[in-house]
Amino acid sequence: DARNSPDLISVYSHAADRIYQRRYHLLEDFATALESPDQLRLVYQPRIDLMSGKCLGAEALLRWEHPVLGNIPPDDFIPMTERSSRASALTAYVLGAAIRQMRDWQEAGLLLTISVNISASNLAETDFVDTLAAAVRHHEIPFERLELEVTESAIMHNPAYALAQLQKLSDLGVRVAIDDFGTGHSSLAYLRKLPADVVKIDKSFVTHIGKSAQDQALVRSMVKLSQELGYRVVAEGVESAQIAMLLREMGCEEAQGYYFARPLEAVQFLGWLHAPETGGGGQRRLRSPRC
Ligand code: C2E
Ligand code: MG
Ligand code: MG
Ligand code: MG
Repeated sequence: DARNSPDLISVYSHAADRIYQRRYHLLEDFATALESPDQLRLVYQPRIDLMSGKCLGAEALLRWEHPVLGNIPPDDFIPMTERSSRASALTAYVLGAAIRQMRDWQEAGLLLTISVNISASNLAETDFVDTLAAAVRHHEIPFERLELEVTESAIMHNPAYALAQLQKLSDLGVRVAIDDFGTGHSSLAYLRKLPADVVKIDKSFVTHIGKSAQDQALVRSMVKLSQELGYRVVAEGVESAQIAMLLREMGCEEAQGYYFARPLEAVQFLGWLHAPETGGGGQRRLRSPRC
């Protein structure tokens, strides 16, 4: 049996070993980066109101410039960090940086809602809400202008405790968004009970609505269901005017995606917001795909 030949096993275990070692080193390197975070920065992707075309806020996304390997994609280091003991340090860094940026923008007269991604283990930390509240108060940011993005799977990890934590956040006024909606295993029973304000439809559903009638029907019903449960709906991964128009016709309130803007450095973000092609107010006119 070829599968049991010692050669194949050793080739396999050698490869598995290398993958394991690479991950291990990345995790170690990222732990170092968290301690002296000059390798880390946040970028901001605008979120657009589909009715007015205005930018109402942005999602903060983490970027890591590894000293040797260069830019590491978030999907290569965030999921494994979220499963490690560094999960709370990661979120502490991102929340700290995002809140300071909000304060700077607020001082410059720019009132934006900033969304920050948090992980399952953050919701399990008993002091998470208090630490967050202290940081927000310290920088004198209204709680209403901070939004936390949580995935369905993060909630389903320990639903009762997650629900209680989200309720505490919601009582403070912090907004809660359900991220990557449709990809997790949340039950409708939970969706109905969640103290959340926003549902973000995952980009894997949004990408093909221009070509696939099935995807279009799916997104249309996700928008309707979410709205009937009282959520504001945001579509992720909007890459064309055609998709943006379709979403607007479906009644989807907000969108985010490369069509409007890529995630931008804070300085570029201001430039984008004030650029003439965005109407000087972060506006991006939705043209009909035919003209
Ligand atoms: P996410 O929270 O769903 O964030 C949206 C991702 O979609 C971002 O990828 C963004 O750059 C990308 N994106 C935005 N518009 C488009 C588009 O039109 N087309 C396509 N193909 N992609 C688009 P990014 O920055 O690589 O982040 C990937 C994931 O890593 C995030 O997915 C989030 O789960 C995680 N992540 C990023 N930053 C943080 C963070 O600060 N904390 C935590 N816990 N997770 C983070
Ligand atoms: Mg997100
Ligand atoms: Mg996310
Ligand atoms: Mg998402």
